[in-house]
Amino acid sequence: ATPVSIMVGTGRAAELGVLFRKGEALQRLSEIERVGFDKTGTLTEGRPQVTDVLPGEGLGREELLALAAAVEARSEHPLAGAIRRAAEDLPPLEAEGFSSRPGHGAEARVAGRRVRVGSLRMMEGLDPGPLGPEAARLEAEGRTPVWLALDDRIAGLIAVADRVKPTARAAVEALGRLGLPAAMVTGDAPGVARAIGRELGISDIHAGVLPGGKVEEVTAMGRAAFVGDGINDAPALAAAEVGIAIGTGTDVAIEAADVVLMSGDPVGVATAVALSRRTMRNIR
Ligand code: ADP
Ligand code: MG
Repeated sequence: ATPVSIMVGTGRAAELGVLFRKGEALQRLSEIERVGFDKTGTLTEGRPQVTDVLPGEGLGREELLALAAAVEARSEHPLAGAIRRAAEDLPPLEAEGFSSRPGHGAEARVAGRRVRVGSLRMMEGLDPGPLGPEAARLEAEGRTPVWLALDDRIAGLIAVADRVKPTARAAVEALGRLGLPAAMVTGDAPGVARAIGRELGISDIHAGVLPGGKVEEVTAMGRAAFVGDGINDAPALAAAEVGIAIGTGTDVAIEAADVVLMSGDPVGVATAVALSRRTMRNIR
């Protein structure tokens, strides 16, 4: 590979909004065999909204929302932001002793009670009761159930949904035309991931992946590019054959990546691959 043709290739890419942070990535990108995508903020907008509030017995909708918002007050997770916004107009409750568990949820004490908020994994075996089938239905619609436990009982669930990016399906299709299958790697529940995957034409789904597990998933994909936006994604971006960050994502992800999609449009992945192949063909 001559330095000049690499310079021309990366220059052309930059004009198309694809920033190569390292020139060598051009060659590696031309040789990848599949592409793994993070879900939230990468294939979806990353601006989730509360869609359903389902209190269990003996609790009101507003009470449930206010309790969840009190726990999420100090969490940086996108789901926490959605819950806080939904509770904006309610009188705030005071929480103390906040702690968060990455990939699970958060907990705090409110009015002397232990309040846990997060995935079913965060609830450590508590019985979801009649809300179980409701959660399955919400997941099948692509909505993430956020459970709330009061002390040792499930007290309700709040569903949160995030829209897929308008070009996400086109991105998956463009990669398909280049002979590259797409996979999804997410911490979200399998039902939600499958529903979003169906919308986008992705059937290779790796869901319920804990923050540390993304590296393992990506490494197992072999010659793969991984596309992500979050702090959680940084180790996988660094470990992948080619790490591709969403330019509208976190600085940590951008620092860890070889390639940055400036506008955050996932179609940029296919653009970058096509360009890398053309450049390497001209060289050989
Ligand atoms: P992702 O961002 O890919 O959904 P995470 O690893 O951040 O994955 O989280 C995995 C799951 O854990 C989330 O889908 C959610 O169900 C739950 N979770 C994590 N943090 C929180 C939180 N602060 N509030 C509610 N749920 C949470
Ligand atoms: Mg993300």
